[in-house]
Parts: sequence; C-alpha cells; structure tokens
Amino acid sequence: MTKLAGKIAVVIGGNSGIGFETAKELKDNGATVVISGRNKERVKQASNELGVLGIVADVSKVTDIENLASEVHKKLGKVDILFVNAGIFQPAPIGNITEEMFDYQMDINFKGAFFTTEKFLPFLNDGASIINLSSINAYTGMPNTAVYAASKAALNSYTKTAATELAPRKIRVNSVNPGPVSTPIFGKTGMEENQLTNFAAAMQERIPLKRFGTTQDIAKLVTFLASDDASFITGSEYNIDGGIIINPLLG
Ligand code: NAD
Repeated sequence: MTKLAGKIAVVIGGNSGIGFETAKELKDNGATVVISGRNKERVKQASNELGVLGIVADVSKVTDIENLASEVHKKLGKVDILFVNAGIFQPAPIGNITEEMFDYQMDINFKGAFFTTEKFLPFLNDGASIINLSSINAYTGMPNTAVYAASKAALNSYTKTAATELAPRKIRVNSVNPGPVSTPIFGKTGMEENQLTNFAAAMQERIPLKRFGTTQDIAKLVTFLASDDASFITGSEYNIDGGIIINPLLG
C-alpha cells in the first residue's frame, strides 16, 4: 500500500509494543520511518528488524529530544507524521507516592511528550499529523494510577490546545486512548507473574469485547490518523478499548 508514500514519519518509543507495530504499519503504507527509544541495544535490534533508521533519545531529557529532532531533519528533511508514543506505566497507591516516582512518570509521559512537539515543531511540514498516545486511564479513576492517569489527562488537554494553535499551519493533533493492549509494558511494572495473570484475567472479563487490544488494532488507527484520509480530523480523541470505558461497573 502506498497511502503514505513520500511521507517522513517519526515514532517516539518505536522499539517495542505499540510503537514497534505502528512503525511497521507506517512503513508498509509507504512512509519512510525513523524510530527512537531510550535503550541503545533495543533500538538497534528493532531498527534492524524493521529496516528503518533508529536513534537513541531519552524523552525525559529535553536536550535528547532536541538532538533527535535535528538529527532526523539533517538525515531526512522535514517530518510529516509525529507519533508521540513513548510512555511508562508505574502503578502505586496514593499515600505511597514519592516525588521521585511522580517526576519519573510525568517526565516521560507528559513532559517528554510536550517537549517532543515543542522541539520537532520547526522541523514539521505544514499539514503534518501529530498523534499523541494517551490512555483511557485519563478517564477511568482506576486504583493505583494517580500519576499515570494524570499524565495522560494532561496530554489529552495539550492535544486540544495544540490542535487550535497549530491549525493555521494545517498541522493536525489528535489523541489515541487505548484500553488494555498486550505489550511488554505490564512486565516492566515490577508486578509478579501471577499478579499480572490475575490482573489480565480480571481486566479481560470487564471488557465487553472480552479481549485485550492488539498492537495491530492501535497501529491501524494511528496510521489512519496519520494519513490524508483523516485530513478533517484535529483536536479529537479516539477511545480504542473494546468498550471497557462504557462498562464501568457491571459486565
Ligand atoms: P512498551 O513498554 O512496549 O513500549 C514503550 C516504548 O516507550 C518503548 O519503545 C520504550 O523505548 C519507550 N520509552 C519508555 N521510556 C522512554 C524514555 N524515557 N525515552 C524514550 N523512549 C522511552 O509499552 P506500550 O504498551 O507499547 O506503550 C506505548 C504507549 O502506549 C505508552 O505511552 C503507554 O502509556 C500507552 N498505552 C499502553 C497501553 C497498554 O495496555 N499497553 C494502554 C494505554 C496506553
């Protein structure tokens, strides 16, 4: 398929999970893709596997984002698709959250996302598409997600402001809010294997469509929003969650 032919796409956090699958989908649709990530070995392995350029950049460091943006520009020119996907999920109960835990999650999920657009802006083509990977957690009040949920709610708010401010350049900005998706993110929480299995089973039972999302589900929506098929869509949020957000109490 060639609906993204001639477009330059950057996937922030493209070495794993949703970012990796989306990089593949964007490439399959004809885009020239760059992935970034924080771990050198994993970025190298994923970029080799995908056959795309990989650049190491930690989004919690604004200078890393600045260097990433200028390196992409130097190597490939201006960018048409910016998928702001990097994120971490670190659940913890209110009352046990340290300043360090707060900063760690906010610095990646919100500040990192915020400064990604800020630093790429001079290198975006007019008419570019920015897609912020948020979460339905921004709306669900799920226990142990106080910082994570707030980081994603802040991102969704930012999507709307950015959409209005960047509209004169025809740059579109949208958010995607997945429900639970099977990716390595849960294994990085520090939860034990059996806790993870119980969590997944309980969660799946609550989802009207009775399954977790796949990375392909999300990649296809992001690719649509990145394409000219979505040229009249900006400032919007897309829930992609098997219906869990409309099923808060009774399944
Ligand atoms: P993942 O752990 O497989 O991938 C996370 C990606 O983010 C990796 O590529 C990693 O390199 C990158 N990353 C993390 N910290 C970084 C940093 N400091 N600098 C640069 N890159 C960094 O997880 P995933 O599930 O694919 O998560 C992708 C996004 O989807 C996240 O923003 C997450 O919050 C969001 N999300 C995931 C789910 C889910 O159920 N998996 C649901 C809703 C939202």
